[in-house]
This record gives sequence, C-alpha cells and structure tokens, in this order.
Amino acid sequence: MNNLKNNPSASKAATTGLIFEEPVVFELGSPGRKAYSLPSCDVPEIELETLLPADEIREPVKELPELSELDVVRHFTRLSQWNFSIDTNFYPLGSCTMKYNPKINETLARLPGFAGHHPVSPDDDSQGSLQLIFELQECLKEISGMDHACLQPAAGAQGEFAGMLMIQAYHTAKGNPRKKVLLPDSAHGTNPASATLCGYKSVQIPSNSEGLIDIEKLEAAMDEETAAIMLTNPNTLGMFEKDILKITDIVHSKGGLVYCDGANLNAVMGIVKMGDMGIDVLHINLHKTFSTPHGGGGPGAGPVCIKNILEPYLPKPVIEKKGHKYFLNYDRPDSVGKLKVFNGNFGMLLRAYVYIRTLGAEGILKAAQSAVLNANYIRAKLKDTFHLPFTGASLHECVFNDKGQGITTMDFAKELIDHGFHPPTVYFPLIVKGALMIEPTETESKETLDMFIEAMKSIAKKGHENPESSQGAPRLPKVSRPDEAHAARKPVLRWRAPSG
Ligand SMILES: *Cc1c(COP(=O)(O)O)cnc(C)c1O
Repeated sequence: MNNLKNNPSASKAATTGLIFEEPVVFELGSPGRKAYSLPSCDVPEIELETLLPADEIREPVKELPELSELDVVRHFTRLSQWNFSIDTNFYPLGSCTMKYNPKINETLARLPGFAGHHPVSPDDDSQGSLQLIFELQECLKEISGMDHACLQPAAGAQGEFAGMLMIQAYHTAKGNPRKKVLLPDSAHGTNPASATLCGYKSVQIPSNSEGLIDIEKLEAAMDEETAAIMLTNPNTLGMFEKDILKITDIVHSKGGLVYCDGANLNAVMGIVKMGDMGIDVLHINLHKTFSTPHGGGGPGAGPVCIKNILEPYLPKPVIEKKGHKYFLNYDRPDSVGKLKVFNGNFGMLLRAYVYIRTLGAEGILKAAQSAVLNANYIRAKLKDTFHLPFTGASLHECVFNDKGQGITTMDFAKELIDHGFHPPTVYFPLIVKGALMIEPTETESKETLDMFIEAMKSIAKKGHENPESSQGAPRLPKVSRPDEAHAARKPVLRWRAPSG
C-alpha cells in the first residue's frame, strides 16, 4: 500500500481489473530502505578519499530511489503486465513473423554449460558451442540451398549490410565496385539503407499491377554499373516472385548479383530453396522464421548465407572443422572483416538450433504450410469486408487497406487494442495506401483467428455506423492514443524530480 500512498496519481486511477496503476520507480520507496541486509562491519571503516585521488571519486548520485527487493520485483512485474507480448495474445504483425517462442528453447538455452560459457574462452574449451554454431550453419545451408552461412550478424539489417559488403568486395576484386543497386518499390526500408551504407545509389523498380517486380522496367534499369538487385521473396505483399528465374537471369547477364531479403522465409522453408533460384546472398531472421524472441528488445540474429563465389569475403572469423575439432579461422585476408566482437548472439543461435532440431525437416515444412493456410484463412474470411489491393495468390500474409471503410487504418489498429489484439503492420508496404498487413504465423489456433476476424468485422461495422467513436480508441490500455507527431518530435525520455 506504501506504493499507492506515495503515488500522486493513485487517487485518480487505481486499477484496471488486476492490473495496477504504477508510478515511476523514482516515486517509490522511502529513505534508508534497501534490498539487502548484511552483518555489521567487523573491520575498521576507511574514508574513500584516503584510498583514491579525488578526481576518481564519483559525486554521490542524488535522487536514486531506495527500495526493498519486493518493491523492485513488484514494480517491474506490474510494468511488464502493461505490455503486450506473444505469451499473452495474438500478434499479427505482417513481415515480422511474430511466432510463439517455444519454452523448450528457453530450457535448453539455460543449460549451464551454454549459459555460463564465457565469450572469450579459447576454442579448446568451447567445442560444444562451436559445434552448435557449425551445425546451425549446416541446417541453414540445407534449408536455404546456399553454400555457406555466417551467423555473426546481430539483425536482419546487419545481415543485409554484411551481404552488400561482400557483393561490393566481389565487384571490387573484379576491377569495378559498380555504382547502383536496384530495389523494388515494395522493399523494406533497411534494404536501401544497407545499399546506401555501402556507398551505392538506390534505383527504384516499380511494381506491376500484380504487385510483382516489373520485368520490362527491370531489364531497362539493369546495366553494367549495377552491382546487385535487392529483392524480397516472397515479397512484402506476401506474394511469390513467380518470374524469379527470369529476374536473376537478367541481373546475372549484366554481371550483377542477386541479394534476397529472406525475412519472409517462413512462407517457403522446406518447400523451395533460395539457392536454386539464382540467389547469391540471402539473409535470414532467426527472430522471425526460427522462433527466437523478437520485439521488446530481445536480441536479434540475422545470419547471412552466400554462394561459393563470395566465400573469400565472408566476415571473419569463420568456423571450421578439422577432424573432430572446431576452431575459429581468422586467417582470411579477403574477408570484409569482423561484424561484432563475439560470434553472434549465441543464446539466439542456440534457441534457433533447438527449434530446427525439434521440428525436423517434416516439421519445418508443416510450419510453412500452416502459416500459409492461416493467412489464407484470414484473407478468405475478411475479403468481403476489406478491400484487397492485389488479388493474386499470397502466401503467409495478406495485405488489405482501408478503402471504402468508415474509419482509417490507424483507427483499426487502435480499436484492435481494445479487443485485446496487437495491431497488424500498418501503412507498409508503402505501395499500398492505408495498408493493413496481417501475418498470423503457424502458431495460432483457428479459435484465435476466428476471434481476430470477428473483431475486425465488428470494428468495420462500427466504423461505418459511428466513425467518430473510433477516434477515441484505444480506451482500455494505460496509454490511450498519443499525439504521434508530438511524441516523435518532442519525446520525453528522461524522468525529472518534481520541483519544490
Ligand atoms: C524485419 C525485416 C527486415 C529487417 O530485419 P531486422 O532483423 O529487423 O533488422 C528486413 N526486411 C524485411 C522484409 C523485414 O521484414
């Protein structure tokens, strides 16, 4: 009760059900309260000043809250309950593949031999961890059909960057790094960002009326100053680039390479292999396709897979196996260099490895098929209520928009929160005006999908009858609808002591 007494706003709003109102941590506790108790000191106390020069002694921090262990545990547990998470409900963010994180991944990630392993242990003391990384690389090679995999990138975006650096090193070795990179207009923003970071100029290729790469426009744009195309397959509309062989031929015929953004691998793993389609570089998001935690700040992992022609440029160190022994090879003179201090986010690699090994080849295929089935179930059930800007077959996600609705895409997103669902991806891909991009993944049950479909329909109905009402949504969570422009331009990120 102490918490509530100290909280100036406690009288205004107490609880929502069992979710407690919570002040910031600085408003909690009372002077002298601690999270520990020690036996009284039995050696003489010495002033710090007699041990350290004055300039090495920090000013005492003022205004730190003084709390018991229970205060701290309750505070952060309560805050965590304000958050939406994959463990509490459905999270249909398109292009993100927010699938359930199986608990067996967590159990095995906590095995003391792995969890306690020090990142700078010598290779001889790291054989189990190195073997796991090596075997995960082998799994990803098998799933992708590529020749090599590197697990160093800490996110899809870093995998893209590493892949583009390798493409640049390849062209440079041939005498001309080239100047341009082609990108379909449905690309994720990280693609042009990665090209730009490598010094390339991005050239946009418009999509055709089916939402696919326009082959004639691609042919016209492709030349010998173009280093690569960066495409996404299935693309960000959830559609398979059915002319992929033609596309890769056009790019290769002018000496360019093909980068594939593999964020949507969940739709096709176990069904087709990117390596068979003329793809030269592919990144994979372990935190999407392979069930490692995603969002809320969980570390990412964005392995990059390549064909043999790029092998000399792989980030170093490369994990190799001699006899039964695994080791890190730093002797790689043509490498694009090290991507980070240690070899990837090992805990993520471990979780992805457990996921792949528990599913096996058959389970991987079934996961992709179920993801496609679930998305097409939603698409079929909602297609009479929502406008589908592209009507061709789509795989693991479906993209509607707000055309003909009484309310906007943003209103749908906010209303869904009051129905207990995380909003889908909104206003992306940019080629769809007012996009509502829904990806259920394979892990959701029919009951959950039906509840979501019902919620979408009832919001649409209310939006036609009483459009103004949606502008107040969401009404139930702790934070309602912030002024987004204000929040983005003038964010308040720092707590300040109340004056006086
Ligand atoms: C998520 C995503 C990325 C970026 O991956 P991160 O791991 O978030 O850096 C790139 N492209 C597409 C299509 C994505 O969905």
